[in-house]
Amino acid sequence: MRPRHTGFCFGVRDALELARGALDDGREVVALGQVVHNATALTQLEADGLRQAAELPAAGPARVVVTAHGAAPAVFATARERGLEVVDTTCPLVRRVQRHARELAQTGWPVVVVGHVEHAEVRGVRGWAGAQVEVVAAEAEAEQLPWSERRGVVSQSTFPQDQFRRVVAALGERTGELRVHDTTCPVVNQRHREAADGFLDRADVILVVGGRGSANTQALAQTCARHRPTHQIEGADEITPDWFRPGQRVGITSGTSTPDWVVDEVEARCRAL
Ligand code: SF4
Repeated sequence: MRPRHTGFCFGVRDALELARGALDDGREVVALGQVVHNATALTQLEADGLRQAAELPAAGPARVVVTAHGAAPAVFATARERGLEVVDTTCPLVRRVQRHARELAQTGWPVVVVGHVEHAEVRGVRGWAGAQVEVVAAEAEAEQLPWSERRGVVSQSTFPQDQFRRVVAALGERTGELRVHDTTCPVVNQRHREAADGFLDRADVILVVGGRGSANTQALAQTCARHRPTHQIEGADEITPDWFRPGQRVGITSGTSTPDWVVDEVEARCRAL
């Protein structure tokens, strides 16, 4: 059984289309990170000529894809200086995080990003804030911050909303005045809600399909694991029959960068067991 929504979110779907479009004329195309957290989809893109890199190429005329996670303004400026053409696939919901972070910083609010410091989106958002930015991923980290008269808060888009609220409450204890923008992604929030609203209750075992590098897949798997035995897998070939007993109901959900056909394959494999 599946909840109502699985497969790609609109942000990843649109980013993938733009990246595919960039490959149309045979020019060298370099993606700054993974366009999609799925090995099969990435292999297809690589076969079509997409190269993945952590840094911008030294010079043009390569075409550079900024992924749905976005990038700092300095990345765009350097690309221009080097004569690189940029295909910007930043998700509109990530732009919203960047915009709020920049506005907060420009209006004198010390910025806190609730998220994971090493995540590509958070690195980009810090760049848009263009100032000293605190990054916290848990209540315990917020409790360690020094007292501040004011703080402006945004969230990494894929950060779980319930955890975001708990971190904000902890920040409130360390801050005189908080200005909070809940920039968690509604698509991710919906998947967590659907997991909590009955889907988990009806399943005996849960499979969460998505890349191991996908933050929202990991968070969804953690939510599910609090209620049911849960396995996070990247594809059908990782399913182990020992996970199930006869007659058990298997719930299948996915992160937002998992293609629908991968979820279909997982369901077909389960039905064949
Ligand atoms: S998960 Fe949300 S923020 Fe991330 S790409 Fe998808 S729609 Fe955009």
